[in-house]
Amino acid sequence: MNTKALRPISYGLYIIGSRKEDRINGQIANTVIQVCSEPPTITVAINKENLTHEFIQDSKVFTVSVLCQDAPLSLIGNFGFKSGRDSDKFVGVNYKLGETQAPIVLEHAVAYMEAKVINEADVGTHTIFIGELVDAEVLTEDEPMTYAHYHQVKRGTTPKTAPSYIEEKDIKKEGESKMAKYKCSVCGYVYDPEKGDPESNIAPGTPFEDIPDDWVCPVCGAGKDEFEKQ
Ligand code: FE
Repeated sequence: MNTKALRPISYGLYIIGSRKEDRINGQIANTVIQVCSEPPTITVAINKENLTHEFIQDSKVFTVSVLCQDAPLSLIGNFGFKSGRDSDKFVGVNYKLGETQAPIVLEHAVAYMEAKVINEADVGTHTIFIGELVDAEVLTEDEPMTYAHYHQVKRGTTPKTAPSYIEEKDIKKEGESKMAKYKCSVCGYVYDPEKGDPESNIAPGTPFEDIPDDWVCPVCGAGKDEFEKQ
């Protein structure tokens, strides 16, 4: 079986919110699908290890914020590579509580949905939650983020707990750079000196050694000392 056949499947990028009593949490997911229109019903696959999974099973509600193409890596990294067990991911984030009292991210989002869980399916590492919409709204006409754009243009990475995670060794490196690349040992993000990190004001052509010491991984927030030369 050639699992590379799975790579051309298209996805978006979403922040899934939920709550447990008065606590809220959210995480990145790429597996939101509309499965029927009457009544409007969607599914999302969530890793059983994630705090959001525990929250959705408890409250039976979840929200989906559809990220726009310009969503910064720092926002995606905050919700994708940190755990709500360690910190409140919503500090400093523009959000509101919806009808379900679950959080909806309003920044860098083109639309949102709120759903109540009507069924779930156990698929081993993940649970597929099936939710009937209770509310939905369009926020902007901006271009939504696709998973391909996140990887190819923004050079984002995928945590091991994602359903579409593929071992890094299978991914072919593109292009050759004369300056050394450095890889984040926490999330797998690769700093390429030729491209720099414009979102953090690191100009293209900046060698890793010349990046200020307070610079952090744009995806997961790890410090410069967590990077390894490739
Ligand atoms: Fe990182």
